[in-house]
Amino acid sequence: MTIGVKAIRGMNDILPDESYLWAYFEQTVQQWLAAYGYRNIRTPIVEQTDLFIRSIGEVTDIVEKEMYTFIDHLNNDSLTLRPEGTASCVRAVIEHNLLYAGPQRLYYAGPMFRHERPQKGRYRQFHQVGVEALGYAGPDIDAELIVMCSRLWDLLGISGLRLEISTLGNAESRALHRARLIKYFERYRDSLDEDSLRRLHTNPLRILDSKNPGMQEIIENSPKLIDDLDVESCIHFEAMQHILREQGINFEINLRLVRGLDYYNRTVFEWVTDKLGAQGTVCAGGRYDGLLEQVGGKPAPACGFAMGIERLLALMQECGKKITQPVPDIYIVHQGEQVMDYAWKCAESLRDEGFNVVLHCGGGSFKSQMKKADATGANYAMIIGDDEVNAQEVTIKPLREPIEQASVKLNMVTDLIRKQPS
Ligand code: ATP
Ligand code: MG
Repeated sequence: MTIGVKAIRGMNDILPDESYLWAYFEQTVQQWLAAYGYRNIRTPIVEQTDLFIRSIGEVTDIVEKEMYTFIDHLNNDSLTLRPEGTASCVRAVIEHNLLYAGPQRLYYAGPMFRHERPQKGRYRQFHQVGVEALGYAGPDIDAELIVMCSRLWDLLGISGLRLEISTLGNAESRALHRARLIKYFERYRDSLDEDSLRRLHTNPLRILDSKNPGMQEIIENSPKLIDDLDVESCIHFEAMQHILREQGINFEINLRLVRGLDYYNRTVFEWVTDKLGAQGTVCAGGRYDGLLEQVGGKPAPACGFAMGIERLLALMQECGKKITQPVPDIYIVHQGEQVMDYAWKCAESLRDEGFNVVLHCGGGSFKSQMKKADATGANYAMIIGDDEVNAQEVTIKPLREPIEQASVKLNMVTDLIRKQPS
């Protein structure tokens, strides 16, 4: 017995009965992004490993344990399947000097790869749409990104999302806060778990993100970032909130919001739902003013976010959004050698007219062909036999309504079908 080859754990096939939901999502997202003037950028799925280490940060979950890194044995390069899209986008912007032409509103969509424990809403190949605004320093663009998200939730029929925002301050205030955190957590050294101990001196901010219940009290009483914030960051944060209020966007300030990537400063935000269990964050982002310089570009401010497509699709379904699977307009059943040429001609000219047409292949009785026509969900069957060829006509049979079939000239099909209530 041969052992069948299976897909890799945590990497899903998206089958036709599901892929139409993805197509609907992608179409909606494309129109939504165009409405705000964002343009698509497409980067490779593989990058030099160093790019992600330098951008995401060495002491982060992603770089420490989630990256698919391998040696390209043909030249000994260390390569990594992208775990997120911002780093690649920033690399491309620098490499092609896109900011020379002015600030850029960009987006990308596609698969990302992280070696995590697969579970509902958490996969090893998952998909994101990422939106990045590069070269913009002001709080207006931070607010724009959030306002656009809110519009997308409406377009997708998603309700009940909670918006959490925070500010991380500038590099100096983060350094100050970091020092205070280290001093504080040092006092509780004996109570820290393994992860936190390891991060104590490298990335103490990440300790705040710990999900360990035993750590929560120590975390709760730790120094607050708000006390270490610089004035400019506070003003920036206030100005962004003003726009959000003006635009009627509800939000909660969560000063404990720590993003899993190191490159953020100032604004950070997450959209969270209670409807998907533990994997509740559907969209997250923030400002990353230092990143371009950090990966070798000229300094430039930037802000962006990424959303998880799998989680958003699941949420759309939770929220009861109904999307109907597209069906063919016409399924052509035909029988007889001399009929086939005519059936082909009919199918092609109907497609010229803009109909979606399935031409039956493989022969079989009219009855079995009609069963197949019905199973496709097509609205009409078109029956072509010797009689039709002789009369140079076709017979149209509505499959979804109790309407009698009728024989007409091919050029009358458009009238007949358009006349039917859909
Ligand atoms: P989480 O806290 O759930 O691990 P994250 O902070 O690692 O999320 P980001 O790197 O901010 O996630 O990615 C943005 C979005 O991408 C997330 O909000 C989520 O919707 C989605 N996402 C991240 N990791 C996965 C995954 N392994 N499977 C499915 N979706 C994911
Ligand atoms: Mg994660």
